[in-house]
Amino acid sequence: MSGTASWTGVRNGMGIARAVSGNNMAYVITDTCTKDELCVEACPVDCIHPKKDEPGFEEVLQLYVNPEDCIDCGACVPVCPTNSIFILEELPPGLEHFAAKNANFFAGAKH
Ligand code: SF4
Ligand code: SF4
Repeated sequence: MSGTASWTGVRNGMGIARAVSGNNMAYVITDTCTKDELCVEACPVDCIHPKKDEPGFEEVLQLYVNPEDCIDCGACVPVCPTNSIFILEELPPGLEHFAAKNANFFAGAKH
C-alpha cells in the first residue's frame, strides 16, 4: 500500500483535478501505444509496465506509467513514435480518463 487509492486523475469542469498524493504529476500513456517498449528503455526509474517479459504483456492493449514511481522527467515523450505519452495536466480533451487507467493498472496488479 503506498497511497495509490487517491490517485484518480478525475476530470472536473475546469480540466483535470490532480488527485495525486504528494506532488507527483506523472506521465500518462494513451491507447495509441503500440507496446514497442521504446519508452521503457528510456525511463530511468523503470515505471512503465508491463514489459514483454512480465505477466500480462500479451493481454494489455497498451503500456502504463506507474504514477507512484514516475519522476516526471519527460524522457519517455520524445522517444514515443506514436505520441502516446502526455503529462497528466496536458492530456488532450477526451483522453483524460487514461490518467486513471494508468494508475488503476498498478492498483489492481499490486506490482
Ligand atoms: S514508446 Fe510510445 S508506443 Fe512505444 S511502448 Fe512507449 S508509449 Fe507505447
Ligand atoms: S516521465 Fe520519466 S519517469 Fe515518468 S514514465 Fe516517463 S521516462 Fe519514466
